[in-house]
Amino acid sequence: MVGAGVAGAAVCERLCARGWEVELYERHADPAQEASGNHAGTFHPIVTSDDSIFARLTRAGFLYALHSWQRLPGVQHDRCGVLQLARSDREIGSLREAVTGLPPDYVQFVTREEASEHAGVPVAAAGVWFPQGGWIKPQSLVRAQLEACGSRLRRRFGCAVEALPQAPIVVLANSAEAPRLCAVPDLRLRRVRGQLTYVPQEALHPPHAAVLRGGMVLPAIDGVCVVGATYDLEDPESAVREEDHAGNIERLRGILGVEVRAPVEGRVAFRAVTPDRLPVVGKIAEGVYGAFAYGSRGLVWAALAAEIIAAELEGEPLPVEATLARALEPGRFRRRAAARGLRP
Ligand SMILES: Cc1cc2nc3c(=O)[nH]c(=O)nc-3n(C[C@H](O)[C@H](O)[C@H](O)COP(=O)(O)OP(=O)(O)OC[C@H]3O[C@@H](n4cnc5c(N)ncnc54)[C@H](O)[C@@H]3O)c2cc1C
Repeated sequence: MVGAGVAGAAVCERLCARGWEVELYERHADPAQEASGNHAGTFHPIVTSDDSIFARLTRAGFLYALHSWQRLPGVQHDRCGVLQLARSDREIGSLREAVTGLPPDYVQFVTREEASEHAGVPVAAAGVWFPQGGWIKPQSLVRAQLEACGSRLRRRFGCAVEALPQAPIVVLANSAEAPRLCAVPDLRLRRVRGQLTYVPQEALHPPHAAVLRGGMVLPAIDGVCVVGATYDLEDPESAVREEDHAGNIERLRGILGVEVRAPVEGRVAFRAVTPDRLPVVGKIAEGVYGAFAYGSRGLVWAALAAEIIAAELEGEPLPVEATLARALEPGRFRRRAAARGLRP
């Protein structure tokens, strides 16, 4: 196993639970120091009026994650609910349509007044309410998963892997670095810089729920409201930028209608993103599996992806229907390229 973020830790946990002996290589001295090292992130599915494959996969990932986190002691998360606010009048209509037929304990359409009631503070628009969504501290999840592995897990931390390890099965969970160890044919993987702004809770009336509207603000967690995030393709700058904080404060204004002038801190991390925004999950080559490219939704994908890989390795029935698993397969990029006639 290469990579000790949410992707790798989840696979370790699922394999060790089935009796596998796992060696986990991580270049940092501690787990969850890169994208999975953010103060907190939100988890929620998405809904679309055609209940697309993407929407169905986020539903499976979200529900599976909720179930799997319950098994693990020490995961710091709160199902405080998530509000996804409409960004335009047109979007109000499409969100209203998208929730039709879905159970109210999964998602509901809410007016601006109802949304404000859920948030505990005024919010800028109507939208949808995911009562079981919320926030999680990814480092606590990674720690809990690695802890659950017990003595079946051997931690090789502070060890950067330069070539594909020799092992009966290798799982690459090292985000944008994965294709360097084993190429995925026709995959154009992009690295996307993201900056979060940590606003002291005294600087605003923190919402009681996670609120999203082209950005996000989380409730106060350990004295800080996480606000974000920027999304910059192929921007390698790892230092925090003041103008990006200003952009996040502007996002916050668009969500809650408040101005924040307090000094803030923040964090930069990098997402790995495929052209279809779905993760790469499954067999890449004989004995080599991928669990990467979780984009902006690692908290929704990680648990389900790990279960898919473990089930596949054990020859068990998959936790999702074949159409959904196929949409995540590393081979999909080659199939599409062939269908476009780019390859013989
Ligand atoms: C600003 C920002 C905000 C986000 N907000 C949310 C959110 O609210 N909700 C949500 O669901 N998702 C969110 N995400 C996305 C989420 O953080 C990621 O999808 C997730 O953390 C990816 O996990 P990972 O394990 O694939 O990658 P990482 O956490 O990056 O882990 C990969 C690991 O591999 C290691 N590694 C790499 N190469 C090697 C090598 N050669 N040898 C050894 N080790 C190696 C790295 O050191 C790292 O520890 C956000 C991302 C960003 C950047």
